[in-house]
Amino acid sequence: MNDLLDCQLIQWPDDQAAYTAAINENPANAGTSSGTRRKRSIVHYSKLWANGRTLKVAFMDSPDTDHKNRIIAAARQWLPYINLKFEFVDDLKGDIRIATKNNNNSSMLGTDALLIHPDHPTMNLGVKPEHEDFEVIVIHEFGHALGAMHEHQHPKANIPWDKPKVYEFYRTREMNPLTEEQVDRNLFASFDTLDAIYTSYDRKSIMHHPVANTLTVGNWEVPINRRISRKDKRLMRLLYPK
Ligand SMILES: [Zn+2]
Repeated sequence: MNDLLDCQLIQWPDDQAAYTAAINENPANAGTSSGTRRKRSIVHYSKLWANGRTLKVAFMDSPDTDHKNRIIAAARQWLPYINLKFEFVDDLKGDIRIATKNNNNSSMLGTDALLIHPDHPTMNLGVKPEHEDFEVIVIHEFGHALGAMHEHQHPKANIPWDKPKVYEFYRTREMNPLTEEQVDRNLFASFDTLDAIYTSYDRKSIMHHPVANTLTVGNWEVPINRRISRKDKRLMRLLYPK
């Protein structure tokens, strides 16, 4: 497993507040409006931005121009597939607020960013511009900011995890070790949002973490996915239709 691709997808802990923020932003997040039987049955909701809006993206800690431009170029790779615009700003006021000086890569999921104190970042891009997968990580974190979940947690993923080995690996690694509870939440728990309703499991998704063969039962692995996949594009077109 590639430590550097490690990403923390963060959801607001108070589900009621997160639900209210999501519905206020975009009533379709309730997932009940289209009236299909499947949609009515979902318990969970989505955290998508209001379709058609402009998202302000702020750089909070003044990365240098080249660094900033590379983040912008990577984030913009989503634009052909969504009905949103990005407006990148240097002041501190943004719907999405990026910090680059920490060592971790993380993002709030979609509208959960609305619940973060305006002085705090909603996305950490600790990856250094010289890292070979800088662009991949930026695209991945923006996927979360747009509301996409981790594809390895798709309810139909059925990854043959060797769970004891996975716990052991994360507990003992040097960088950013994880407790069993964190592993459960970040790797094993499946989600049930619109992502899962709209598209089938996609092991080529840029939202999929790499899965090492040593952490699965039998011969099963997923390499690092470096491009927005066909299904990623399809999902984003469905979430933010033009
Ligand atoms: Zn992630």
